[in-house]
Amino acid sequence: MNSDAPIYHVESAHGVHIKLQDGRELIDGMSSWWCAIHGYNHPEMNAALTQQLDRMSHIMFGGLTHSPAIELTELLVELTPSLLQKVFFSDSGSVAVEVAMKVAIQYWQAKGQAERQNFVSLRRGYHGDTIGAMSVSDPETGMHTIFGDALQKNHFVEQPGCRFGGSSNAEDLLGLENTFRNNQNIAALILEPIVQATGGMWFYSAEYLQQARILCDKFDVLLIADEIATGFARTGKLFACNHADISPDIMCLGKTLTGGYLTLAATLTTNEVADTIDSGEPGVFMHGPTFMANPMACTAAATSIKLLLESPWKENIRRIENELRHGLEPCQEFESVKEVRVLGAIGVIELTQEVAMTSITKDFVGSGVWVRPFGRLVYLMPPYIMDNDTLKTLTTAVVSVIERHFFD
Ligand code: PMP
Repeated sequence: MNSDAPIYHVESAHGVHIKLQDGRELIDGMSSWWCAIHGYNHPEMNAALTQQLDRMSHIMFGGLTHSPAIELTELLVELTPSLLQKVFFSDSGSVAVEVAMKVAIQYWQAKGQAERQNFVSLRRGYHGDTIGAMSVSDPETGMHTIFGDALQKNHFVEQPGCRFGGSSNAEDLLGLENTFRNNQNIAALILEPIVQATGGMWFYSAEYLQQARILCDKFDVLLIADEIATGFARTGKLFACNHADISPDIMCLGKTLTGGYLTLAATLTTNEVADTIDSGEPGVFMHGPTFMANPMACTAAATSIKLLLESPWKENIRRIENELRHGLEPCQEFESVKEVRVLGAIGVIELTQEVAMTSITKDFVGSGVWVRPFGRLVYLMPPYIMDNDTLKTLTTAVVSVIERHFFD
């Protein structure tokens, strides 16, 4: 991080606004790294958490259980693709990915194929910052350049070139098929369904996902869907896998899971995978985080999910999608803009060159909006509760800042 990059002191946040200590108020275009879907300080979320605090803030989850975890488990099993029946709670998205990778390894061990310990993932994919998660993240953007020698050597196939809304092409899938065919030690394919987020906000074809599922079945490889960035309606479907109508063998959820209130992640799997692990040695999945299924976090998650389901979320995401599309469209005319693309409540402006973080951030804040670009991407992932007027103010500010920065 740039040493002269500004850091702003936040005093409070309400609805879709962030209040700085100096009194300025910013419209939140980031949902705090994509998770605060109901905005900040939501009265129902606050009330549910206050009640839970009076009951207990935490209790160990070994040999004990509690209502928030049971309720959340039931909701997740009901809402996610039908084959996913078992849920494991952990602390963060990266840990949920570690858990998914360990589940896959232990599954093959229990089946007498302990040599299957390698993973296949997509270039430009990103799955987190821990050692295992980094080993399946893009070698260039996933920090391999610094930690490469410390990471397990996994297989990477080309990023799908086929766009969302279009069909997949044979070339895109050939690399995947060849990798499966030529390597016997693969435990699972891990990918971000439909949206490769941190690796470039790239939206790819649902058909690719369907074909990847078919190839996993053909070569008897588990499919891990990392829905940490896409889960809970961000792309317009409740889960991105729903665009392709597929059920993965393992799914990771995080970020939006608690509506951005507290840190919690979940790794879901099928009865077949869970039962196989239980039938092998040592007869139980070997992972036990201290704060597993924290009752406050589970309460936040169950409340957030119910709020989402009670809202007209499909129309709402469609409304945001339209506003982002119209609002960001003027950027398309700028020479410095390579492409504007929008999917669900994600609006992306891909530039031809990297943004100067320090000056552009100051300009965004000066314009009353909170936007955090990276690389050549300026993007918006607003809270779902943002109304059209506020969306318009947000996109107008973003267009003006980009125009100023690249034409002055
Ligand atoms: N997977 C994906 C797809 C993500 O976008 C992220 C976070 N950006 C992670 C995993 C890691 O999640 P966390 O930051 O909660 O560890």
